[in-house]
Amino acid sequence: MYFLTILIIISLAFTNEEFINDPYCGSDDVVHIKNIKFPWYKQAVDNLFDQALRYSEDGNVNRETVYQIPVVFHVVYNTDAQNLSNEVIQSQLDVLNEDFRRLNENASETREEFLEFAGDPHIEFYLATEDPNGNSTSGITHTYTSRSGFPYISFTDLFTGNISLDEVKSSETGGVDAWDTNRYMNVWVCNVEESFLGQVLGFAYPPFNVQDALDSLDYESVPDWSQFEGVLTDQSLQGIVLHYPVVGTNNPQADDDGLSGNELGRTLIHETGHYLGLRHIWGDALLGDGCGVDDGIIDTPNQSAASNFTCNLNINSCSDNPTDYYDMVENYMDYSNDACMNMFTNVQIDVMRAVLEIARPGLIEGQENNCTAGDLNGDTLINVLDIVLSVNIALNIDEYNSCGDMNYDNTIDILDIVLIVNAALGS
Ligand SMILES: [Zn+2]
Repeated sequence: MYFLTILIIISLAFTNEEFINDPYCGSDDVVHIKNIKFPWYKQAVDNLFDQALRYSEDGNVNRETVYQIPVVFHVVYNTDAQNLSNEVIQSQLDVLNEDFRRLNENASETREEFLEFAGDPHIEFYLATEDPNGNSTSGITHTYTSRSGFPYISFTDLFTGNISLDEVKSSETGGVDAWDTNRYMNVWVCNVEESFLGQVLGFAYPPFNVQDALDSLDYESVPDWSQFEGVLTDQSLQGIVLHYPVVGTNNPQADDDGLSGNELGRTLIHETGHYLGLRHIWGDALLGDGCGVDDGIIDTPNQSAASNFTCNLNINSCSDNPTDYYDMVENYMDYSNDACMNMFTNVQIDVMRAVLEIARPGLIEGQENNCTAGDLNGDTLINVLDIVLSVNIALNIDEYNSCGDMNYDNTIDILDIVLIVNAALGS
């Protein structure tokens, strides 16, 4: 029965072009492949996504603090061409910081109908200055490997639940071990080799809650230790892998992959979106009607399939209610060419920030503004003092204090005062 299931899945894979020929990103494939061996996997990922969505819907997301995430790039090379210089890595970091602050030049190209949905994620990235041992570092490692490259997926992965490309994340298999994935965003750069599922430019695992996954295992009837292993090894694999030609904006090897349209460094923007919990904008329908599967994000239009590098501004693949929008091909979570991409939506941003706060808190440790909304003076009470403080801010007597911004619109005005009065009366 098990093998029959696998055969069916493989045959489905081969009959579905979306699944096998994505010349872009493996993040969705790996979830499905891991889920064959680890039946809890997709559910754990979905649970975390739902949790992040609820957390943001309940107004718990801190939208003010500019989170700063330490990054380490591991350049794993076999040839000189693959050994990208620090200048190329720096240009990649620059793109990351522009796009995650909506300082990208082509932000001006977001179509008017989408401007109200586009936002600034308030997330910045910096090269780690201290390695896990406390030594100073440039945040970039360069490591020679005797391997000519790292294949994306092998056929046996379907049976083992391993992903071949993860071999770049271990020194035992010719790669480089992760730095503590709870404290650093690890980005491995290597020669990603084509596999029977095609060539990908990169991939990142979605976050899930380890305890939630362990709790979901059936300890009684399935004493299968490999299931525990699957949960416990996940942490050492968290991070992003990039094919070396797609890194940065000044990469001399940009044409090495034979693909065009990915030379502006935006593969990492897309993969960082996955790393922070986002799904593809078209919802990853495997079979059937793509309009029937959503990405779970309410302010992205429904879309039936990936844009596949076309940047077609006239395509409207599904109808939306009450307003029917074009496909948002400028969204970083589509498969558009780099020049086409220019925005995350506000709800996507909320989910990414929620994921940072509840699933990757080690990356932003100490940066949280932990105030309770309405408690402007931080005395754990919401009372008349807080009302006075908020009135003073509204009258421009005192400086803005995000703890008083009850409706998260970056200003404190009469609406916030009313909400604080209500909170004070209720407490
Ligand atoms: Zn993707």
